[in-house]
Amino acid sequence: MFSGVLQKMTSIHDKPIRYILDFESNFILMNQAITKEIHISKKGYCCLSCAGDIEIFANGFCKKCFFESPKSGDWIMRPELSKAHLDEEDRDLEFEKKMQLQPHIVYLSITSGLKVGVTRKNNMLTRWVDQGASESIILLELPNRYLAGLAEVELKEGYSDKTNWRKMLTNEFTKLDLIKEKKDALDRLSEELKKYKSGNETVYQFNYNVLNYPKSVKSVSLKKSDQIKGKLIGIKGQYLIFEDSTVFNIRSNEGYLVEIDLK
Ligand SMILES: [Zn+2]
Repeated sequence: MFSGVLQKMTSIHDKPIRYILDFESNFILMNQAITKEIHISKKGYCCLSCAGDIEIFANGFCKKCFFESPKSGDWIMRPELSKAHLDEEDRDLEFEKKMQLQPHIVYLSITSGLKVGVTRKNNMLTRWVDQGASESIILLELPNRYLAGLAEVELKEGYSDKTNWRKMLTNEFTKLDLIKEKKDALDRLSEELKKYKSGNETVYQFNYNVLNYPKSVKSVSLKKSDQIKGKLIGIKGQYLIFEDSTVFNIRSNEGYLVEIDLK
């Protein structure tokens, strides 16, 4: 029996990707749980910011923390709203400086279709695994989050910034030549952002441990049910995929206090 607060799985970029579900006093090597029966039982809540036993509102936070914690400012989802480079505070300037004023990348990845995104440079492999990308390439390397956000805004006119999670989980993706896509994407950018072009032409590839992909998927969550159970047949992104085609997104169930049984 494992118990603790659900937080997104740690991943190791290996072939296949290895996942670890960490709790305060123990952890589960999730790849070893594939083919096993898993029971996840909801026992309460633990907000990832204030640690209160208060209903989770979104992203692992209670309602108050979601609207007040510096860890869930608007600049996280919309990098172009970053203001730390101007020395302007959103919720906590010191935290925002630490997060925003560091090297960021703008990338293209194939999750289901082609998407554009922004992440901290030292977090890129984790970011791509979390979204269930099959391949990725770096377009730009920029000194802060704000500039990366500006480039993303320019590129959003031609590319989606969302993952179609159903297609990602049924493994329906378009085969594309990312080297060529990178050239096309750079051509769309204004001169002042194009100068941040990354010389790294690596096409990063990701292999997930999934025994067989479901033809269609049904999402289950702890918000709707107190117990999630099923035989685990694979893990992709932050999703557990069960034999009966249900899928459980660990990321969107963060902050729940749970007990987990493996059989
Ligand atoms: Zn809270």
